[in-house]
Amino acid sequence: MGFLRNWKRRKLDGRPFSDTWRRALEKHIPQYSKMKGEQKERYERLIRYFMAEKSFEGCGGMELDEEKKLLIAALACIPLLGGVSDVYPYLRSVLVYPSVYQAPYSESGDDGVVTEGVESRSGESWDQGVLVFAWDEIAYDLRRPRDGSNIVFHECAHQLDYEWGATMEDFAWQRRTGEPGMAATLKASYQKLLEKLDRGRPVMVDEYAATNIHEFFAVMTETWLERPDRIKTAWPEVDRVLREFYQLNPDFL
Ligand SMILES: [Zn+2]
Repeated sequence: MGFLRNWKRRKLDGRPFSDTWRRALEKHIPQYSKMKGEQKERYERLIRYFMAEKSFEGCGGMELDEEKKLLIAALACIPLLGGVSDVYPYLRSVLVYPSVYQAPYSESGDDGVVTEGVESRSGESWDQGVLVFAWDEIAYDLRRPRDGSNIVFHECAHQLDYEWGATMEDFAWQRRTGEPGMAATLKASYQKLLEKLDRGRPVMVDEYAATNIHEFFAVMTETWLERPDRIKTAWPEVDRVLREFYQLNPDFL
């Protein structure tokens, strides 16, 4: 698998990057226009691998043209610029609905009672290698690249959490430095967020972060990538572990 993939990647590397793609990226992805030299080349390579290796599927009557696929790939590859993941190895498919879609859910409460129903969703990430999006949410995020929320960054963070156990396990570097691990730092910050919300204090991120530790990580990631200043000021310890995890300085995006 690895050999075949690497061979296909080398073939892709040998071809020039499409001018049509370049124009679309310049128009819609402000981070791309800011990139230079080696970083830009690396970003283009990642996008190409994503486009070649993941399958896209329009659902609910969605017409998924190449530009839409490209823009999803482009957003999904921004968190990868520092090398946190080799293009989401567990991710196979991206499903896209035109707008908010209905999905069945079942939830077991503390009392063991299972509630089932249907709820509206704008995106989700499955452990089994599937991302699901509502296109109008992505289009909204593309128009507001600095509002601190981005559904693609959010769902991709769940893929990375799954890949690395980011919110569950400590990493080698943390054991080396003797500092509290990433998981421990995130858990402590999550408790701090719950306390702040309890006291009615501002938290500077979407309150959805309070749902659980995984959502906390995903919400922190999306805001950190779009508004690093906000996380640095309000959540400096989270900024520190995200920089280490993503091997990325979001100030330059
Ligand atoms: Zn989530």
